[in-house]
Amino acid sequence: MSSTTCNIRVIARFRPLNDREKQMKENKNVLAFPDENSVVVEKNPPFTFDRVFPPESTQDEVFEYVEDTITDVLGGFNTTIFCYGQTGSGKSHTMFGSGDKSDTAGWGIIPRSNLLMFSTIDQQDQIGEISIKCSFLEIYMENIQDLLNPKKDPKTIKIRESKTLGIYVEGLEEEYVQDENDIMELIAIGESSRSVAKTNMNQKSSRSHSILIIQIEQKSPDGSVKRGKLNLVDLAGSEKVSKTGAEGQTLEEAKKINQSLSLLGNCIHALTDSKREHIPFRDSKLTRLLQDSLGGNTKTTLIITGSPHYSNVDETLSTLKFGSRAK
Ligand code: ADP
Repeated sequence: MSSTTCNIRVIARFRPLNDREKQMKENKNVLAFPDENSVVVEKNPPFTFDRVFPPESTQDEVFEYVEDTITDVLGGFNTTIFCYGQTGSGKSHTMFGSGDKSDTAGWGIIPRSNLLMFSTIDQQDQIGEISIKCSFLEIYMENIQDLLNPKKDPKTIKIRESKTLGIYVEGLEEEYVQDENDIMELIAIGESSRSVAKTNMNQKSSRSHSILIIQIEQKSPDGSVKRGKLNLVDLAGSEKVSKTGAEGQTLEEAKKINQSLSLLGNCIHALTDSKREHIPFRDSKLTRLLQDSLGGNTKTTLIITGSPHYSNVDETLSTLKFGSRAK
């Protein structure tokens, strides 16, 4: 393997039919799940992934599959979990969850990761110091907006690289956190400042990529330092522009989203190809930001999400193709 090649784990998750889809007359469910690694869409050949979660899968089952990410980040790896799919396919549900704090079964990957991370730290025989800091940003129209400090001018936020810190974002708020509640409070602050715009498909369509970055630094008594970074990424909806009936500013947004997602796809694809020397990380803010978390000694999980309904077949197939290219 070349130094930049890495294995990317790809998981596909499908949500149940929603009420609107259940009421529609056409063929409802177009998916079949022959085994836990594959999914078939109508008469197409099966798509195979590291794991496929059918609609009845629980948040618990999905998390159980990705929870080793937390051990990895505490072990000093840079790790990333992405969610990719059309708007309304279950990205936020998978990453954040039902949004009801008391409904623990509905919790998504982010609250579960936080809980597991702090309980693992508590159980460690701590010899040395540990510090955890958190930032939360969105990339909107190729500008970085600080979700923890939304008044900050995106022009003053710059992606930099240093020998000790790797890739970092200059000018971005970084909050030290003591427990999982601190992180959840920061997420609530950040979520309230996210850019959302209405489209025909989903009123809360998300037009930006959001990235929660948790950095863990562990200092041993002998002075050695172990650093790990966890990036939890909820990508902007991958749907085609025409389907959303977008115009003007919304059309520009959609073009930028499609371009940035395809540049991400190019990087991931290049990383899986051991013959490729050059990985085009610098082509977009998203890939530049994640450069030291995707290439080299890192662990990445891509979760692609889809709807089981006939009306979304084209988008589901395009999502599955994106996932296949990452393997
Ligand atoms: P996205 O973030 O991709 O736009 P959402 O996560 O907001 O999509 O999901 C759209 C709707 O579908 C939400 O009401 C969400 O609660 C529901 N949903 C998504 N995935 C699931 C699932 N696996 N089980 C139950 N409901 C789901």
